[in-house]
Amino acid sequence: MKFATISKSTIFKIIIIALSLLLVASAATAVYFGVQYSKTQDNLSKANEQIEQGESLLNDKVSENESLVEQHSSEKQSYENKISQENSEHQSEVDKLNGQIDKLKKELAAKLTTNISTTVPDSAKPVVVPEPIQGQGKTVYLTFDDGPSQYTPAILDVLDKYGVKATFFVVNGKYNKTMKDIVDRGHQIGLHTYSHNYKQIYSSDEAYLTDLQKIHDVVYKETGVDATVMRFPGGGSNTVSKKYSKGIMTRMTKAVGEKGYVYYDWNCSNGDADGANTVQKQLNYCSKFPKSASTIIVLMHDTKKPTLEALPKIIEYYQSCGMTFDVLTPFVQPVHHKVLN
Ligand SMILES: [Zn+2]
Repeated sequence: MKFATISKSTIFKIIIIALSLLLVASAATAVYFGVQYSKTQDNLSKANEQIEQGESLLNDKVSENESLVEQHSSEKQSYENKISQENSEHQSEVDKLNGQIDKLKKELAAKLTTNISTTVPDSAKPVVVPEPIQGQGKTVYLTFDDGPSQYTPAILDVLDKYGVKATFFVVNGKYNKTMKDIVDRGHQIGLHTYSHNYKQIYSSDEAYLTDLQKIHDVVYKETGVDATVMRFPGGGSNTVSKKYSKGIMTRMTKAVGEKGYVYYDWNCSNGDADGANTVQKQLNYCSKFPKSASTIIVLMHDTKKPTLEALPKIIEYYQSCGMTFDVLTPFVQPVHHKVLN
């Protein structure tokens, strides 16, 4: 047994060697871990450095943004100041303009007041009713030519209000339906002309008589009245017809009689076809009737608004003269002008 020959000193040497080896191994391990540790430390410090750099960058950015915010808010403030300054400037301009408007309004009101006090329109002046003329025993025949018109219904209302009857010498037109109203409300309907076109109706005897027949037929159709009273356009004395047919009025004034008509001229007028466009002017015209005549035939036109406006005063004036109103019938003594053609 060889083992049995190993001496104690050899064993001791082996143990020493083994311990030495163990020591060397431990030292190597320690060195290895020491190196590793130092590497880790390095990495850690590098990471810390990077974090610090990042933080400083972040801080830089934050402070940069803060300064931008500050800059913007100061700009905003300056704009707000500017706007408020401009607003106050505009407000002062508005105040100034309002002041001017007030001043102009006052001036206008003053001018209007002056105008009203210096130039009173005719319609606003009090009407001076002409002195009544003794008219006891006289009959006044109010006659309206050229209608019906848009004013005819209102004229009929005025006549109703005063209980007065009148005579309407009508023409053909867009208010033909009012003819029935005229008749139904107790007035007389007479013939004037179908076309009221002088050039046409006075161009020949035949033309005139055809026109007369046409208006006769319209009135008959609208009202059932076979009209017998009539009035020539321009009156029996008109000379306009001379231009179109010499002597036509001489012939027609006879011819209509032969056909059973009675024609009526007038011996008074309200002047509504001669520019009398106010109550006062029409009253002045109406007061100029022939004092010796017992029959007063007043020419008016129901196509004129001033006539509608003056009618109440005209009626009141004739009433104040003591006259009575009536309608024209074939039995009323006609008023005829001198035939001039
Ligand atoms: Zn006429």
